[in-house]
Amino acid sequence: MLTPWNDLSMAELTVLETAFWSSRTSRHALAGLLDYSKSKANATVAALIERGLLQEAGLQSSSGGRRPEGLRLSERLGVVAGVDLGATSVDVALMAPDLSIRAHHAEAIDVRAGPGVVLPRVRAVLRELLARLGLEARDVMGIGMGVPGPVAFDQGMLVAPPLMPLWDGFSIREDLRQDYTAPVFIDNDVNLMALAEQWRLRRQLPDFLVLKVGTGIGCGIICHGQVHRGATGSAGDVGHICVDQQGPMCHCGNRGCVEAMAAGPAIARLAEEAARQGDSALLAEWFERDGQLLPEQVAQASRAGDATASGIVQRAGGLIGQMLASLVNFFNPSHVFIGGGVTNVGPLFLAAVRQSVYQRSLALSTRHLEIQFSPLGGHTGVTGAGVLAMQETLRTRGVAP
Ligand SMILES: [Zn+2]
Repeated sequence: MLTPWNDLSMAELTVLETAFWSSRTSRHALAGLLDYSKSKANATVAALIERGLLQEAGLQSSSGGRRPEGLRLSERLGVVAGVDLGATSVDVALMAPDLSIRAHHAEAIDVRAGPGVVLPRVRAVLRELLARLGLEARDVMGIGMGVPGPVAFDQGMLVAPPLMPLWDGFSIREDLRQDYTAPVFIDNDVNLMALAEQWRLRRQLPDFLVLKVGTGIGCGIICHGQVHRGATGSAGDVGHICVDQQGPMCHCGNRGCVEAMAAGPAIARLAEEAARQGDSALLAEWFERDGQLLPEQVAQASRAGDATASGIVQRAGGLIGQMLASLVNFFNPSHVFIGGGVTNVGPLFLAAVRQSVYQRSLALSTRHLEIQFSPLGGHTGVTGAGVLAMQETLRTRGVAP
């Protein structure tokens, strides 16, 4: 049964949202967080428990030895579905309202095959996962999905995605509506990473950036505790900021974009050039053996003391730091978390990013700035999708725009 979010009072919605973010909070803590009187907090909580939306965490036998006064969203609400669509894989999970994963499936997929191929598969996986839990479509209260391209958030569709042209203007939301009455929210993969980071930090940091460096480069922006998507949804599309007017041509048609010079493929390309030119015996040996080089191998060569490989890693980190310095001056974040495949390149890369940022940013904006690799693990995408689904379902009272 779906929850009638629509007749909740603002106070009730706020308490639900706060309970979602603060996980097993007490009535006392809720009152403090929301600046409610003790009696208002108690009355609101009692009404929500009565309606089956909130539950005492301690009453759940599965929750172990937690304090009995802890409150959380009721499991009777059903499950949240999270889908993380990458360029070559899809990750699907059903989560409890506290985003603990109840069923999960990942498989390889080619996103370029288009929505006509990919979405029927996603819907089939969702059906399989629901069946595994003995649930039905109506038990899904919200769906969040991340995609590897620019998204018009309000419309829930991709706009001119460079990697996946068949998806341009396709309504993923309408497609999923064939199976679900639950609201569907679509966002880009980097914003989901920012939401997952915010979830890890339980909303403790109001202003930070998440930089994803993989095949491309993108930035998730948390501003005043919210994802900042901009006027048309393209905020944080920083991969095409120019770091060298004379640099190589980028697939976007401009020269010297940071993505074309410092993302994973650029690191691999520079290593292959070095191998061909005989600048590094180690890289040349691996290149001859494998016919290609991966960014991880450049890192491996660097750790083995290869000066050419270290130079490539440092240059990539330096260029990303150069771009990041502008973002830091402009936005003044407290933290920058770097994630994506390039984190495998390791500490030398991070050191180069830091050095470049501190050198080029204003003293005031770096006074307390921390730049770190994101500690998020394997379920980042689906967790971010779960946060998106839960947060937006509450915000819109279960009605997708
Ligand atoms: Zn570009």
